[in-house]
Amino acid sequence: MPVLTEDDIRELASFKGEEAPVTSCYLDVDGRRKIRRQDYEHELDTLLRQARSWEDSSPSIGEDLRRIHEYVHRGVDRSRVRGLAIFSSSAHDFWRVFELPVPVRSQIVVNHTPYVRQLEVLVDEYERFGVLLADKQRARMLVFDMGELVESDELFEALPRHDDDGGEWSRDHLQSHVAEHAHAHLRHAAEVAFKVFQEHGFEHLVIAAPDEIAGELERDLHPYLQERVVARLHVPITASLDEIRDAALEVEAEVERRREAENVARLREAVGARNRGVAGLADTLQALVERRVDTLLVSHGFQAPGWRCPSCDFVGVKGRTCPVCEAEMRQVDDVVEEAVEEALTQSCTVEICHGNADLDVLGRIGALLRY
Ligand SMILES: [Zn+2]
Repeated sequence: MPVLTEDDIRELASFKGEEAPVTSCYLDVDGRRKIRRQDYEHELDTLLRQARSWEDSSPSIGEDLRRIHEYVHRGVDRSRVRGLAIFSSSAHDFWRVFELPVPVRSQIVVNHTPYVRQLEVLVDEYERFGVLLADKQRARMLVFDMGELVESDELFEALPRHDDDGGEWSRDHLQSHVAEHAHAHLRHAAEVAFKVFQEHGFEHLVIAAPDEIAGELERDLHPYLQERVVARLHVPITASLDEIRDAALEVEAEVERRREAENVARLREAVGARNRGVAGLADTLQALVERRVDTLLVSHGFQAPGWRCPSCDFVGVKGRTCPVCEAEMRQVDDVVEEAVEEALTQSCTVEICHGNADLDVLGRIGALLRY
């Protein structure tokens, strides 16, 4: 099972604290920076102190803070966890913890819904991917989720020996025999890759094999895998896990930047042609309210104040009366977070774009529309 899925985030985003707010706490527990346990415990205590000011508005928040404190102080297995994301709304008996193999930015937010943006950035950034390494005798099939190894299979096939054939085989015969073995080996490697895919699933596949066999290996792959191949790496089959992971993560980041750039290019075109595209905060929120959004694009880190209607879920930049149902709206510090949650609830695709200047020019937010 993946550490964190889009469905987990949708489930979180659809939760609404009707009786009391939700406390969302992200904590960086990365052992590379927070060397001692006290380092992250101290950071947590600072966050909890910030949140004390909200405690008066609801006793449920006080209970949330107590539970979070207790959970973290019980200890974290930092051999595999670098970030924690905790969501609590005690009045609703709502409690979710995600132990992540990647760091997060420490942050505490009290809002009427779980603050999911950091999680969304992570699932968007880290697809589960496979790496298939092969040479003429060996193959390794690895699966990484958020940069963590979750599966590893190996295959070794001895080349045919020819010292016991009494010299009867001709040189040509021997060569074709060896070649036949090599072909069979690549087919076996492709089979292993498919078996691992069926058991563990992954979005992308990276191939690492010498040029003279990489093409054949790719042709031997099941069509489901062929369509997932995103790159070829030049990493030897004997490479360490860290080397393979780092090289593959680099490829993954490139693939992600490319996809963001393609989506932003589509957005620019759609906005320019005034055909199924909107840009800028006000127009994008409007499209969300009208449920026309297919893909929401947001610049990483973009925040803006705004309004949300508690009775009909309207989101907008101007308050305070809801233009749809005329209820009094709630002022929110970050309406962009509300937009991301709303988009997830509506099952839209959400793309958080990193350092994309074109999207920044368009107003740091925009949407490709269904109609
Ligand atoms: Zn309303």
